Parts: sequence; structure tokens; C-alpha cells
Amino acid sequence: MASPRIRYGVSLRKRYAAVQKDKRARYMCDVCGKEAVRRISTGIWRCRHCSATFAGGAYTFKTAAGEAAIQAISGKSAMQKPQAQAQAR
Ligand SMILES: [Zn+2]
Repeated sequence: MASPRIRYGVSLRKRYAAVQKDKRARYMCDVCGKEAVRRISTGIWRCRHCSATFAGGAYTFKTAAGEAAIQAISGKSAMQKPQAQAQAR
């Protein structure tokens, strides 16, 4: 058995294996563009090349929710409040 902590169902074990793979993979750094970002702790990722530190997902560098948040911040999302509503206050 791969891990004594994961039991009760093959789908769970398969999911755990996928998570472990993502956790150990290297990711592209947004700062220097090199594939050198490694997970250093839960949700914390650091580029080994330029030492930039990122807040990411617990087990993967980028999550769907994180991408949505970045889009909302940069103003490209449809979720952004209309200007008229902001000026009314
Ligand atoms: Zn970097």
C-alpha cells in the first residue's frame, strides 16, 4: 500500500497519487520564466532560480480558484463590479 493514511476506496487512492505527483512537480516561475518553482510548504511555493515566493494551492501551484482571483484583480473578469455601481457610493 502506498500510504497507510489513505484507505477506503480506489478512487481516493488514485486521487492521492495524482496530488503527490503535482506536489513534487516543478512549475513555471511568473517572475523569471524558468521552470524552478517548488512547493516548500502547504500553499507556499518558491522559485529556486530567483527566490520569488508565491502563494498557491495547497498541493498544486495554481488552482482554478486562484486563477479566477487573479483575473478579478487584474480587471479582466466579468465578475468585476460595474463602474456606475462604484460611483454611486
Ligand atoms: Zn523565478
